[in-house]
Formats: sequence, structure tokens, C-alpha cells
Amino acid sequence: MRRTCKIKEVVEVSYVDKLLEAMTPNRKVEKLLNQKNKIDRELREIREKCNHYQQTIKQVILGEGNQVSTRWVCDECAAVVGYPTDYELNKFLRK
Ligand SMILES: [Zn+2]
Repeated sequence: MRRTCKIKEVVEVSYVDKLLEAMTPNRKVEKLLNQKNKIDRELREIREKCNHYQQTIKQVILGEGNQVSTRWVCDECAAVVGYPTDYELNKFLRK
């Protein structure tokens, strides 16, 4: 397992949005939501198959509210694979 740190890089993490299942009268919105669903499903399938061999500590945006947090992220599929410990954060950030 190779792990590096690119703390300045912010990646967006997609979360399945429950609102997607709600009916919408706007066709364009409906179409966009369908596409988003399809993209989320494809991402999930890719991430399930990935072995997350190379991981990097990155700042990620979490769901609603655009909260930024620090996580281990897979370089290959951009999946959030874990929380860095204080030790890991210090090790990678103190340079
Ligand atoms: Zn991965």
C-alpha cells in the first residue's frame, strides 16, 4: 500500500442523494437527476472493483453544506477509503 499526501487538493465526493427519488415536474431536472443516478451507479461499480492500492490524504467535500474534511482517498477511483489518524496527519503534514 502506497500512501502520499496532497492536502491542498480538494476532491468532490459524491453521495447518493435521497432526494433523487422524489418526483419532479421539471423534465430537465428529471433528466439531469437520471444521469446523476447513472453516474453514481457507475462510480459505485468501479469503486467496488478497485483494490484502492494507492491512497492519498486529501481534503474532501462531504455532501450537503460543503463541509471540507481530511480523508484517505484512493488515487485510482477517488473513493474515500478511511480516516487518517492524528499520527498519520502529523507525519504527512509536518514537513
Ligand atoms: Zn480505489
